[in-house]
Parts: sequence; structure tokens; C-alpha cells
Amino acid sequence: MTSYWCEQAWLNDAVADRVRVSLDNEGTIQHVEAGVEPARGDEALAGMVLPGFANAHSHAFHRALRGRTHASDSAGTGRAESTFWLWRERMYELAARLDPDAYLRLATATYAEMARAGYSCVGEFHYLHHDADGTPYDPPNAMADVLREAARRAGIRLTLIDACYLTGGIGEPLTGVQRRFGDGDADGWAARVDDLALDPNTRIGLAAHSVRAVPADQLATVAHAARDRPLHMHLSEQPAENTACLSHYGRSPTTLLAEHGLLGPSSTAVHATHLRPDDVRVLGESGTTACFCPTTERDLGDGIGPASALAEAGSPLALGSDQHAVIDPFEDARAVEMNERLASGQRGRFSPAQLVTAATAAGHASLGWPEAGRIRVGAPCDLVGISTHTVRTAGATAEQVMFAATAADIHTVVVNGRPVVAQGCHVLGDVGRLLTEAIEPLWGELR
Ligand SMILES: [Zn+2]
Repeated sequence: MTSYWCEQAWLNDAVADRVRVSLDNEGTIQHVEAGVEPARGDEALAGMVLPGFANAHSHAFHRALRGRTHASDSAGTGRAESTFWLWRERMYELAARLDPDAYLRLATATYAEMARAGYSCVGEFHYLHHDADGTPYDPPNAMADVLREAARRAGIRLTLIDACYLTGGIGEPLTGVQRRFGDGDADGWAARVDDLALDPNTRIGLAAHSVRAVPADQLATVAHAARDRPLHMHLSEQPAENTACLSHYGRSPTTLLAEHGLLGPSSTAVHATHLRPDDVRVLGESGTTACFCPTTERDLGDGIGPASALAEAGSPLALGSDQHAVIDPFEDARAVEMNERLASGQRGRFSPAQLVTAATAAGHASLGWPEAGRIRVGAPCDLVGISTHTVRTAGATAEQVMFAATAADIHTVVVNGRPVVAQGCHVLGDVGRLLTEAIEPLWGELR
């Protein structure tokens, strides 16, 4: 039996001193003891140890957009030209260029960056299903298989969230590169996702991309296909989505999704930014998780969603790095609190313990791994060791580490009992080099 001995660790929503965590050969925790000295053979972890983080919302290929969507205007005045539409144009250029080989390189490097940042599990909201002109691959889930392989190589668990994506907007057909995303109708999509198998590192979730991309008469098919599996959906990220939904269907996106059976304790609404009080109530009463992606939402200028109102209404809060402008779970977690401080003029909307739960246990539950995200018997042994004497963390209390640390302060990451990061180094080596080698060829002809 392997044992880790932690100087301090997060147990039962609080900090405990001198904790030994023992696990079996499958990587499952068998014993947890606090207040003990290290024994011979224990792997000692200095500083503060948190459970593994869950990245509840990822589009791996968007990592290639980081630092490429903030242009000055073409007239040379030096003014910014960084609209949402410039971002989307770049995203489509990129989506058109990815084949399975390029995607394997990019997703492996991106997931390695996540593991380096303390994520033990990622929920990949996957819609890059087919070849660039919409022709299915052989096998039809070749791109999903690429994501599984990337997660396995990077040492991170995967929930493959296969998204139904049928229209380019309400009442608009898919055009151009969007044809990669479509399966004709929800039945065609459901038949393809039926072939997605579990493996020890992968669980399957499903998604309705959004009310923009799935017509109302197709939503019930998506809900039925998901049954008790995780069901995710983008919700009310931009006011334009609400306006289009109201004018076409006469109801808000939240109401439309509720009417077709897409909300509930297995469901996760991603963003949930522009909600009416009624929407907040419906989401909370249904037990739907709200997945906030603050570093993406600020990058895209989406707005600040009602995180504490949703939590008070009954929605668990999860977190995702989404388009990966930043991959740092500390930054996303504290941004939820900091954004509310700015918007409300009040401090202390979320406690440090609530932010840890959002980043760990609630995120894993949203991704269909309810046993994970806590340091306790029966959970997979996912541990994140944080140095408490760096220039950022020195002097902070262990309880408040979420408000001080960054991903760069992590020295060790253990996923399912296996060390994936040791002394700050990922098992695949230099992750910056992997990212460079994956991303630069994609933009080579466009510079
Ligand atoms: Zn998204």
C-alpha cells in the first residue's frame, strides 16, 4: 500500500495538520489519518494539500487562441479591435484547420497544462465531430477517441461531453466550418453518441450546445439520450441569446430548457450569466449546477453572472476554464468572489471553503465523478501539493490559500494515486514546448 504524508491537508471542509493518506493499487483512498507523524516509506508532501481540481468546462482547441484575439485596429490608429466577433472569426479559422493528428497534439499539451495546474479531471464539451466539410470520420467518433488518448497521455481523467450542435443560430442552418459540428438532427447525434464507450479513465456526458444550436423540437431527444448521465448546456452567455430566444419562442432560454426536461440534479448550465430572477429560481429549484468560467467570461466581455443568488436558490457552483485564456483553478475560483465584490460593493459572498468545494467536489459531481474531489476513504487519490513559502503564498494562512496561490505554486499533482507532476514538472516534460509545437503550426500560414 502506498501512503502520502501531508504537512497540511484539506479534510472535511477544513485544514488538518500532519495527514497520512493511504491508497490501494487501484489508486483509491483506503485510510485517512490526521495528527500523525510520517512513517518510513511515506511520500512526504510539503505545504498545503488540496483535493484534485475539476475543470468542468473545456474546449481544448480554444487553447490555441490565447494571446491571438486582442488586436489593434487595421487602420493603424493603435486603438483596440478586440471584439467578440474577432474572437469568433479566429476560432472558426482554427476549427477549420484541425485534423485528428493536430488535435491530438493540441489536446495532449492543453490537458498537460491543466494537470500542471492541479486539475485531476476535465469535462471536454466536444463538438468538433466531423471532417472540415462535415463528412463523418471513419470511425465516426475519431475525434472523441483523440480526446481520450490526449487525457490518458496527460494523466488526467476525462468526462467526454458530446454536444448536439444542429443550427448556426435559431432558425439558421450550419454554414462553413460549422458543418463539422452537426449530425443532421438529434436522432442522428444520439445514434453516434450511442457508440461512445466508457473506459477506466473516461466517463461519458452529453450536451445540448445551447438554445441557439439545438431547435426546441430536438431538445427532448437530447434529454432522453442523457437519462442519468451528466447533461451540460451553454446558457445565456450573451444578452443576444436571450433576445433571440424570447423573440422566437416567447420564453427565456432557461424556461425553454426546463419545459423540455433538460434541467435537474444531473444537469449543468454553463455561464448562466444573463438571468432573470425567475430563471435563477427555476435553475436552483431543479438542482441544476451552475458552471461559471470567470476568466473566459471576462476575456469575452460576457458580464458577471449571479453566482451567489444561484447558490442561495439551490444550484451547486462548479468552475471551468472554457476557452483557456487562463488555466489556473485558483484564479477562476477567487474571480467568482472578486467579481461579486465589484458588482455588489460587498465582500464575503463566498467563503474560502465554498470556493474549494466549487473547484473540487462540486466540479467532479457535475462531471459524473461524485466519489472524487474530496480526500476521504473511497475517493480516487487526487492530491494537489501547494508550496506555502513562495513569493505569492508566503504569510497566507492555509485556510485562505485559494486567495493567494496560483498554479505556479503547485509542486505535486497526484491523479488516481499516480504522480503526474513532481517538483513542478509534468511527466511529459516541458509543457511549454509541447504547447508551442502544437500551436505554432496551426497558425503558420495565417501570420
Ligand atoms: Zn463553452
